[in-house]
Amino acid sequence: MASLLAASKCSFFNPKKEFDIGSSFSPSISAHRCRRRAMRKVLAVMAPPAPSPRSPATTGSVKHSMTMTEKILARASERSQLEPGENVWVNVDVLMTHDVCGPGTIGIFKREFGQNAKVWDREKIVIIPDHYIFTSDERANRNVDILRDFCSEQNIKYFYDIKDLSNFKVNPDYKGVCHVALAQEGHCRPGEVLLGTDSHTCNAGAFGQFATGIGNTDAGFVMGTGKVLLKVPPTMKFILDGEMPDYLLAKDLILQIIGEITVAGATYKSMEFVGSTVESLTMEERMTLCNMVVEAGGKNGVVPADETTFKYLEDKTSVKYETVYSDDNARFISDYKFDVSKLEPLVAKPHSPDNRALARECKDVKIDRVYIGSCTGGKTEDFLAAARVFLASGKKVKVPTFLVPATQKVWMDIYSLPVPGSGGKTCSQIFEEVGCDVPASPSCGACLGGPRDTYARMNEPQVCVSTTNRNFPGRMGHKEGQIYLASPYTAAASALTGFVTDPREFLM
Ligand code: SF4
Repeated sequence: MASLLAASKCSFFNPKKEFDIGSSFSPSISAHRCRRRAMRKVLAVMAPPAPSPRSPATTGSVKHSMTMTEKILARASERSQLEPGENVWVNVDVLMTHDVCGPGTIGIFKREFGQNAKVWDREKIVIIPDHYIFTSDERANRNVDILRDFCSEQNIKYFYDIKDLSNFKVNPDYKGVCHVALAQEGHCRPGEVLLGTDSHTCNAGAFGQFATGIGNTDAGFVMGTGKVLLKVPPTMKFILDGEMPDYLLAKDLILQIIGEITVAGATYKSMEFVGSTVESLTMEERMTLCNMVVEAGGKNGVVPADETTFKYLEDKTSVKYETVYSDDNARFISDYKFDVSKLEPLVAKPHSPDNRALARECKDVKIDRVYIGSCTGGKTEDFLAAARVFLASGKKVKVPTFLVPATQKVWMDIYSLPVPGSGGKTCSQIFEEVGCDVPASPSCGACLGGPRDTYARMNEPQVCVSTTNRNFPGRMGHKEGQIYLASPYTAAASALTGFVTDPREFLM
């Protein structure tokens, strides 16, 4: 098991004394349900300051080292220096919203800025229908219509629309799960600030970007001004070294970390991931790592950008970005070290992501189904990993196994990419041979339950091994359902036995 070497607290930051004005559901303007005039007054008070006519002076003060997150926020707030705990006005590079929170955000934007107001920058707002898409629920369908009308009215450049729900493939603009689509479409760039009305926006920290979730009220304000008031989080450092055993995936690493620090262990803190193991991870695996920092309460997660990042971005964006890295002497609030070579496959048992256990310790837990999907575990490499286990086993699955690709691109990869060592078979062929359900239309699917007719929704109190990120009661549908969070390796191995299963049973 990993060793926890040090978790020292810095004296410069006392979270108890801080007022959390910039958090996802901040009291900034959202706490006041007052009438429009009063609201305008609040907005006037909250208006961002005019830009300084000259660069801030650096002479006469001692310059100190900063972490990546501090540097990104310093650039975005036009400051040369800042401290954890400071509240700063931040210029936002990208604002993302989706079908669940988009209508609310639009409503607040229109109410506060006016029915005819224009968004601050039509090219910096990305709108992605992804949550409740393939359903006959009228209110869910209406949400997508609201997004479409707004994007047309505002001439929003990046709107990934779906009009024909009967066949996602005839909607070329449609992508699927927002966090994976943001990466695939080149909206995640090092050194920038990306905000989204979704708690897993932290996924984009994999690109060395400051990315975090905000509430609809803050998003409505960003929509009108391009700015947000943020408290600078202190940074925790996670050093992951050692060769990654080939039965582990990034999901095991983040479950290890959350199990170590608990679901409140990184509350309003930045989590920076470094070390030789992190450097060896692909971009999709880095996304898995950063995706779940919010399950530890983290404000954001970051991985320093490197050649892997630059290569991934090569054909995805022509926007110039500026990478930043933590200074050698940057102040981290705590350091955690892990020897990855000693880790074993993990699960998070019901009903909390920090309820960590070794997969092999749960071998007597009988399961009813397996779900492979979501922004955390529904990417191309997640399906390749599951196919690898199925291929190695030569067996058929023993429980219903649902596959929900995150995006249209992932769906295409499942049907086109050869699985290494398979003699040219695609994931879809292997999934069919072992008896999995046919890969579904890309979306959030049953990751968060959704309307009752959502594909693979848990409508009965069943036990599920899932590659998703949350296992709270009711998360995937039925409130008495039990969800074991796991890597795609562990999920596939469990599908083959009908019990929670350590993938080493098939991979070694
Ligand atoms: S896949 Fe799940 S966790 Fe990810 S954005 Fe959708 S609902 Fe949220």
